[in-house]
Amino acid sequence: MAHTLNLTLTPRQAVSEEQWLPIALRQIGAERSQLALARVVKRSVDARHRTPKVLLTVELYIDGDELPPPVHFDYPNVEHKREVIVVGGGPAGLFAALRFIELGLRPIILERGKEVSERKRDIARIGRGGEIDPNSNYAFGEGGAGTFSDGKLFTRSKKRGDYNRALQSLVFHGAQPEILYEARPHIGTDRLPKIIENIRRTICECGGEVIFDCRVTDILVRDGAVRGVRTADGRQFDSEVVVLATGHSARDIYYTLHNSGIRIEAKPFAMGVRIEHPQELIDTIQYHSAEWREVLPAASYSLVAQVGGRGVYSFCMCPGGVIVPAMTDSAECVVNGMSSSARGSRWANSGIVTEIREEDYGYLRAEWGELAALRYQQEMEMRARAAGAEGQKAPAQRATDFVAHRRSSSTARSSYTPGLVCGDMWEWMPRVVAESLRGGLINFDRRMHGFLTKEATLIGVESRTSTPVRVPRDKESLQHPEVAGLYPTGEGAGYAGGIISAALDGERVAEAAAIFLER
Ligand SMILES: Cc1cc2nc3c(=O)[nH]c(=O)nc-3n(C[C@H](O)[C@H](O)[C@H](O)COP(=O)(O)OP(=O)(O)OC[C@H]3O[C@@H](n4cnc5c(N)ncnc54)[C@H](O)[C@@H]3O)c2cc1C
Repeated sequence: MAHTLNLTLTPRQAVSEEQWLPIALRQIGAERSQLALARVVKRSVDARHRTPKVLLTVELYIDGDELPPPVHFDYPNVEHKREVIVVGGGPAGLFAALRFIELGLRPIILERGKEVSERKRDIARIGRGGEIDPNSNYAFGEGGAGTFSDGKLFTRSKKRGDYNRALQSLVFHGAQPEILYEARPHIGTDRLPKIIENIRRTICECGGEVIFDCRVTDILVRDGAVRGVRTADGRQFDSEVVVLATGHSARDIYYTLHNSGIRIEAKPFAMGVRIEHPQELIDTIQYHSAEWREVLPAASYSLVAQVGGRGVYSFCMCPGGVIVPAMTDSAECVVNGMSSSARGSRWANSGIVTEIREEDYGYLRAEWGELAALRYQQEMEMRARAAGAEGQKAPAQRATDFVAHRRSSSTARSSYTPGLVCGDMWEWMPRVVAESLRGGLINFDRRMHGFLTKEATLIGVESRTSTPVRVPRDKESLQHPEVAGLYPTGEGAGYAGGIISAALDGERVAEAAAIFLER
C-alpha cells in the first residue's frame, strides 16, 4: 500500500519533485532506489502568512506496492444503437454525449457553430475588433463557451456528479494530469481546443455524430412529448429524447421556447464589470512580497461583500490573463476573462458583479413576461456597446474615478485588444448596479489593501455570469415538466455555472434520459 504524506513546505521546497522528494523519503525512512512511484494527490497554497506555505499531499509507492491504475475510459461502439439528439456542443452537450455512449445510445450533436480550428479564425478576427459572427464567437462553436474560456475547473457543485471522473475524462482527452490534484485546477485557453477536438474524435469514433453549422430553430412537440427538432436549413431530426444544452448566450432558443408555449422562467442573475490590475500588484498583495512569484503561481483572489443588502462578489478571476470580447452580436458589448495554462500575462482580471433581482427587471414583465430578465441583460449590453462606440471597443474607467464619480480621460494599459473608450460608467449603468459595485470596491480595498488603485481599470459589461432564464425540469425525471423527453441542461437552462458543473449536469440528464427510453 502507498504511503500517504501531508507535507507543509516553503514555496521553494515545493517547486519540483527534486526538492520535495528527499523530504518525503526521509519521513518514511526509504531510499530513492526503493521508490517505484511518487505522485502528488493534492496541492494548495496557503498565503495567509508572511511566508506563504505550500500544502502537498503525496503518495509514495515502494517496490512491491500495487501501483494506481492509469486513467482509462472504454467507450463502446454505438453506431447501430438508438439515436438521441443533443442540441449544443458545449461541456454539457459533450459530456451528455459521452455518457450516452457509455450507456449504449447513439448521440447526434447539433451545433450551430464551427469546428474548433475554423472557430479560431473568427475569434482572432474579433480580437482585432472585427465583426461578430452570430454563430461563431467566444460563446458559440465547438466546445461552446468552454473552448476559449479560462478553463478553471473548480466547482462548488461536486455533489451533483462524479467530479473526479469528469476531471479524469478531461485528462484522458489530453488535459494536463495536474488538474487531478491541484486545489484550484486550471487548464488554460491554449490547451482547451485540442481537448475539445479529442472529445469529438471519441464521440465520432464510437459511432456518434457531431453536425456543425446546424442551428436548431424549433423543438417539435406532440401530445406533451418531444418528437425532434428542426434546424435553420430546414432539416428535421426525429427523436424521443432531445437534450437542450444551448448555453446562456443562445437567446434565440429562449424566444423559440417561449413562442412555442414551452414554459421558461425569468430568474435573478448577476452583472457588473471586469476589473484589470497589474498581476505584480495582486502578487504583492496576496503573497506579501513580489519575490515569491518566481516559485508560486500568479496569485488570485476571491472576494465577497454585502452592500445595502445586495451581494457583490468577484467572479471568474483570471490571474496572468486577458480580457476578451465575449458578445454574440455586434450590437452588444460583453466582456469576460481567460488565461493560458502558464498564466503568464502581466495582468490579472476578474468580474466584479452584483445581484440583479426581480425588483430591477420587474418593470419589463408586462411587455416581456418571463423574458424580462433577459431583456434587462440585453439592454445593458446594448448600452455598453453605445458607450464603447465603434468596432468591438469597450467602455472603461479607472476604478478610482468610478468610485469618485469622476470621468476618466485615460486608463492604464490593458489586455483588451479591440480597444477601450474612457468615460463614466455611471452615465449608462443602472444606478443600483453602480452603487452596489462602488460599495463592493471600497469594501474589497479594505481587505486587499491596494486593490482600489488608479492602475486598476474597469471594463464593461460583465453580464453573462449566469443565465437570466431557467428552463424548468422535474426534480426526479429531469425532464421538462410539461414536455416528456425534453431535457434542459447546463448553464443555459439554469442548472450549472461553469465548465465542470455543466459537464456533470450533462451526464446526469443523459442517465435520466436513458432510463426514460427503457420504460
Ligand atoms: C471567456 C470565458 C471564460 C470562462 N472561464 C471559465 C472558467 O475558467 N471556468 C469555468 O468553469 N467556466 C468558465 N466559463 C464559463 C463556461 O465556459 C460555461 O459555464 C460552460 O461552457 C457552459 O457550458 P454549457 O455546455 O452549458 O453551455 P455552452 O458552453 O455555452 O455551450 C452551448 C453550445 O450550444 C450551441 N448552441 C446554442 N444555440 C444553439 C442552437 N440553437 N442550435 C445548435 N447549437 C446551439 C452553442 O454554439 C454552444 O456550443 C467561461 C466562459 C467564457 C466565455
